[in-house]
Amino acid sequence: MNKTYDTDVLIVGAGPTGTTLAADLLRRDISVRIVDKAPHSFQGSRAKGIQPRTQEIFEDLGILNEIQNQSTLYPLMGIHLGPLTLPFKMQKKKKITSDVPYPNTLLIPQFRTDQILHTLIESHGCNIEYSTEVTDYNQDQEGISVTLATGEVVYCQYLVGADGGASKVRKLSNFQFVGETHEEDRMILIDGTIDNLSRKRWHVWPKVQGKQVAACPLPHSDQFQVMIRVQPNDEIDLDHQVLTQQLKSLIGKTIYDITWTSVFRPNVRLSEKYRNKRVFIAGDAAHVHTPAGAQGLNTGVQDAYNLGWKIGQVIHGTADDSLLNTYEAERQPIAARVLNKSNELYSEIENNSVTGLKRGDEERQLSISYYGGPLASKETPQTDTLKSGDRAPDAKFKTSGENKRLFELFKGTHFTLLSYGKHAITTSKAYDISEQILKHYEINNVENSSQGIADYSKNIIKNYGLTTDTIILIRPDGYIGSIITEHFEENLATALKQFGIISK
Ligand SMILES: Cc1cc2nc3c(=O)[nH]c(=O)nc-3n(C[C@H](O)[C@H](O)[C@H](O)COP(=O)(O)OP(=O)(O)OC[C@H]3O[C@@H](n4cnc5c(N)ncnc54)[C@H](O)[C@@H]3O)c2cc1C
Repeated sequence: MNKTYDTDVLIVGAGPTGTTLAADLLRRDISVRIVDKAPHSFQGSRAKGIQPRTQEIFEDLGILNEIQNQSTLYPLMGIHLGPLTLPFKMQKKKKITSDVPYPNTLLIPQFRTDQILHTLIESHGCNIEYSTEVTDYNQDQEGISVTLATGEVVYCQYLVGADGGASKVRKLSNFQFVGETHEEDRMILIDGTIDNLSRKRWHVWPKVQGKQVAACPLPHSDQFQVMIRVQPNDEIDLDHQVLTQQLKSLIGKTIYDITWTSVFRPNVRLSEKYRNKRVFIAGDAAHVHTPAGAQGLNTGVQDAYNLGWKIGQVIHGTADDSLLNTYEAERQPIAARVLNKSNELYSEIENNSVTGLKRGDEERQLSISYYGGPLASKETPQTDTLKSGDRAPDAKFKTSGENKRLFELFKGTHFTLLSYGKHAITTSKAYDISEQILKHYEINNVENSSQGIADYSKNIIKNYGLTTDTIILIRPDGYIGSIITEHFEENLATALKQFGIISK
């Protein structure tokens, strides 16, 4: 860090987006301060679905085991229609495949996900500064001064607003938050204990006294997350006794030991911009949508994962500032698609259609691609299965008798080069670059080869669609940076320069 800065990056908001970004920057030796206006960490179950792509990110950050220990798969739904309870499968349980190690959505309350992320950043020596609100900022060519409600002014290189849907940072940046809020459509959320209600079902009462009610069991606890969607003119009272009586009259069960309540209004909005020079916004600060499809937290975590390595490259001086423009260019179109999808699902739920409860491949977020964006030109070659910008798939292989996976090799902050075929391997080997920046693996199909990865199960070759000499450059966030199948020397040099791996 340059001596004149108090910290490299100031992050506003210690929700899942802000803490994921902090964790990614800290492991890149970037100094970080993270402030939150709340007096303590968030206590509610709010976002409870962790999608397969987010699980892959959490594996890279080293917290997936903890997330798995504290979660379960989603239970079957139980749809209560009068005296009948119909079982309903929201999503088909998928099998693990060589390219997708975590195919199913995990159920875990947000306060646990937040806690696991907080423990991770604390292990890097970064403590969240609670009761610390950001109120203003001023920037110039060299840096940005951020004013806190405590009176302190923090001078840093970058400010990231991960400060939720009502983002102060977004407002200070004068970004329009385009979309709509359905003021009349409200949902009461309650975390509490309910006895004599099966914990093997996510219960749904599609219509009781004109309301929709749902109760989802929160894993490894005796709590449920209850949702009551009320009528436009209903009065809402969050007093615990009132809520207990209301639920009793709706579903005949008593809720007690209530630990969190909230009223939620579906807001569907997208920020027109994600960047103002040294200021970025991410997560709910940049996009909000309905909870249908369990996408909000996941999209925020992935914003952070996209932004982290780019800020790292620029602060370390290996890439120029223009790399940071690719954050908005890559992430904003993804949020726009998520907004459409969650709207579609939500309006089906609103009409009591079961298709609104079904979850498919799009929600798993594995097919997200940056193809055609600023870092993945449509002009570059493709393999039989992949294009630039696509998610780099996993693949199982065996080396020296040991079972391994490609994702174990990708883990960390570095770029990865996979070379297949003699010409590709010779070209890649010519570079002598620190393993902290770039790791290179040769792929061959020779059993017991002493060199590189012996892919005799052909999983890598199959998943990466390799048919001819090929070099694949994989970004630190696990997306394909470049596919090279000809003019190896020239094209590899261009790709390495594009990402700041070698100087221009
Ligand atoms: C009922 C419901 C169910 C949901 N289910 C899912 C789901 O299953 N999966 C999913 O992916 N998403 C789900 N979501 C959405 C998810 O909760 C959000 O998308 C997620 O919390 C966004 O994370 P974030 O870190 O961007 O923002 P937040 O979690 O909102 O965190 C923002 C933080 O910024 C702090 N802050 C705000 N202003 C300031 C300021 N001026 N100064 C300092 N600090 C500030 C706040 O105190 C807060 O801690 C659900 C939401 C609801 C309501």
